[in-house]
Amino acid sequence: MLHRSAMNTLKATIFFLLIFGSGCQQDKASLRPDPHSFSRPDEAVVKHLDLNLRVDFDQKILSGYARWTIAAKGHASTIVFDTRDLDIQKVTLGKAEKETTWKLAEPDPITGSALEVTLEPNSDLVTIYYATRPEAAALGWLDPAQTAGKKLPFLFTQGQSILTRTWIPCQDSPGIRTTYNATIETPVELMAVMSAENPQQKAADGRYSFRMEHPIPAYLIALAVGDLAFQAVSSRTGVYAEPKVLPAAAWEFADMEKMVYAAESLYGPYAWGRYDLIVLPPGFPFGGMENPRLTFATPTVISHDRSLVALVAHELAHSWSGNLVTNATWNDFWLNEGFTVYFERRIMEALFGKDYTGMLALLEYGELKAEMEDLGENSPDTRLKLDLTNRDPDDAATSIAYQKGALFLQMLEQKAGRDKFDVFLRQYFKEHAFQTMTTEKFIAYLKKNLLDPLQLAVNTEEWIHESGLPENCPLPESKRLSMVESAAQGTMPSKLQTVHWTSHEWVHYILHLPATLDAAALGKIDQTFNFTHSGNAEILAAWYEKAIRQGYAPAILPDIEAFLTGVGRRRFLMPLYRALLETGQAATAGQIFENAKNNYHSVSRNSVEELLKTNGK
Ligand SMILES: [Zn+2]
Repeated sequence: MLHRSAMNTLKATIFFLLIFGSGCQQDKASLRPDPHSFSRPDEAVVKHLDLNLRVDFDQKILSGYARWTIAAKGHASTIVFDTRDLDIQKVTLGKAEKETTWKLAEPDPITGSALEVTLEPNSDLVTIYYATRPEAAALGWLDPAQTAGKKLPFLFTQGQSILTRTWIPCQDSPGIRTTYNATIETPVELMAVMSAENPQQKAADGRYSFRMEHPIPAYLIALAVGDLAFQAVSSRTGVYAEPKVLPAAAWEFADMEKMVYAAESLYGPYAWGRYDLIVLPPGFPFGGMENPRLTFATPTVISHDRSLVALVAHELAHSWSGNLVTNATWNDFWLNEGFTVYFERRIMEALFGKDYTGMLALLEYGELKAEMEDLGENSPDTRLKLDLTNRDPDDAATSIAYQKGALFLQMLEQKAGRDKFDVFLRQYFKEHAFQTMTTEKFIAYLKKNLLDPLQLAVNTEEWIHESGLPENCPLPESKRLSMVESAAQGTMPSKLQTVHWTSHEWVHYILHLPATLDAAALGKIDQTFNFTHSGNAEILAAWYEKAIRQGYAPAILPDIEAFLTGVGRRRFLMPLYRALLETGQAATAGQIFENAKNNYHSVSRNSVEELLKTNGK
């Protein structure tokens, strides 16, 4: 998932810190290797899924069955699945579909309800008949008005971190991998795609079959249904989008093949066959989601100048870090994201040079410092390895996992030398392909295969288990951005100066405009550069925040409101709502949210709602 922002959801979710869980759950807790899953894989574990669902846009429900091939120990009398807000109808065993008993535990607000199914000796097939509910947190049901085409509805899923259980009864831990086949029935005007082998054309009867032959964790099972069309970028890469968006999307992502090539040259063959990307409607809450074979992406990366394609490099890099070698629990989330940010920068460097990635690194370092300040440098949440027991695992999605994680790897690269570090990483991905990784296992592997052979002394423990940033943290530098800073602090830059500026330079320019500038001064700058109507969402978000914080917002409020209503990406929403709250405009924030909330996916809606509740009025 692409996060990269100082979105502090911690304050907002503090009330979740109450201890939930009945005595029964506590007793069995020692058998659960993942605090966010009720499953007990040592007793009975899933191996393969056959999913059969019908998509009902009128009722906003999915219904059908999940048939799990399982492996159970001889003594296991039950198998436990994770569910949340599912209506379970019946459960059967074996090919003969003999009905069996089951019970659903009292729901926990974060982890949902354990579904305990009674097994018979040698049970190897469990079929769960069920339906989702309209409020299922993973499912983004969009009305036609919320799509580009405005005529047909759209549905997308977002499984990470623990939301797949709201649309499939599953063992929802990143430490448990399965293959899957699926049959999805949609209205005939729509096309379904999944994190699997995909169709490239609509099926006349609305029935689609899918196959994912590699074992993946439940959070990577994904589905999108809409008025979709496909355009190839190269023989193994391509783009899905609504027909209206497709030409611009295919142009924007023309470098996909070059990126896959660069990634393979660094860390070994791409293991998943095709690499495609789907551009979703603006309600998608994240920048991108690394669903295998099919990255889900926000339309806000289409800037018509290819300046935001680092997002594609990021999601592609997850094909190794995250999807191939997966964090064992969400406490080890930095293994997914820190590696991916490091890898993303190496891909971008291969395509665009050090100068360019220097800018990305410096901008993100700024976000990390802001987040550290927000959390407090001594906060345990600034550690790489976290303890999220009894907390929402989305709390792990801060810049710490991403940026501190990447800086740790960059420090290791500097110590070992790039060549040796690359050999190490290539071997790491190869040896652990399609497996899970804990922080402890990684530390041992690092010591044995890099630090000891090269006799390197590195403060690994401090980086991983202590808060804040260690002294030997690499400091990103960017000459290009230093020049931009001077321009922002001095008089208005000339056309000549800015003619080669990318959106990164413009964002940095906006961020570094003096805090003393008043509405009139910002208005003059806006007249010159027309930031308010930029076609680049990153520039818009930076500019609108500046405008809110420095009194220029009233002049452009309809534009800010249109942005907050039309875009559901949490990275943009949170700083703008926060800026409104911190400048005494809680009423405006509340009003905008009321009008906009139905356009947001639950992930964004809940975050903004909590922010307003905690800090509003
Ligand atoms: Zn990511």
